[in-house]
Amino acid sequence: MAMSLPPDLHMHTPLCRHAQGEPVDYARRALAAGLTEIGFSDHSPMPQDDFDNWRMRLDQLDEYVDKVLHARHEVPGLTIGLALEVDYIPGHEEWIRDLAARHPWDYLIGSVHYVSEAWAIDDPQKLSEWKHRDPHEVWSVYFDRLKMAAQSGLFEILGHLDLPKKFGHQPPPGCRALYEPLLETAAKFQCAIELNTAGLRKDCNEIYPSREILELARKKGVLITFGSDAHAPEEVGMNFGEAIQLAKAVGYEDCCRFEGRKRFSVRF
Ligand code: ZN
Ligand code: FE
Ligand code: FE
Ligand code: ZN
Repeated sequence: MAMSLPPDLHMHTPLCRHAQGEPVDYARRALAAGLTEIGFSDHSPMPQDDFDNWRMRLDQLDEYVDKVLHARHEVPGLTIGLALEVDYIPGHEEWIRDLAARHPWDYLIGSVHYVSEAWAIDDPQKLSEWKHRDPHEVWSVYFDRLKMAAQSGLFEILGHLDLPKKFGHQPPPGCRALYEPLLETAAKFQCAIELNTAGLRKDCNEIYPSREILELARKKGVLITFGSDAHAPEEVGMNFGEAIQLAKAVGYEDCCRFEGRKRFSVRF
């Protein structure tokens, strides 16, 4: 049989302060899991290092790049992409362009974690914030920002498309109307969405995005990538069997990989 596994384009390093294992360990684990390609996409620096406590500082960016290049050197049998998971926040466009110009990135993942100045919806420390918010309002702001991220042209991939469900806050039925404009925008700007298996390790216990969203994405012609969002080496390629099954079930046969911010198609 041996269908090839899709590249795992989403994983972290200890520089973000909430992941374990060096890039070289992730790379070795990837080879052992039968992957032929991975990409590092650690949480990118913010203009202010004290913005929050779950990302690298700006003065660590060169070290990050060195660590990824070192893994490339140590594990030559594996293709290793150099990337960042960048927080999309309206008004940060200039900062993101600055980051993009600093190193020869293969791709940038645009993720929305912040739905307001101080609230990252996936932060377990801020979980109680949900009690003070209207879920429909949260999901609306979230999808609106994600749509702006797609339109910005700054990113090859949109991260974990329905992240607000992480702790089990599934989108209220009224939010369904928000899927179509978002996915049409992603298709128009050729911004891929990822099948992110980390959701299977969270309270929501399902892949990001949901099957319903992915079916619509397929209909709209949205491109896909795969990512484990590994924060430890043993999570690399985790649950890819399930993700492949889901992608195939809704009609996908190809995913994307990137080199020097150029997109290539890969059969999986
Ligand atoms: Zn993280
Ligand atoms: Fe994220
Ligand atoms: Fe991530
Ligand atoms: Zn992530």
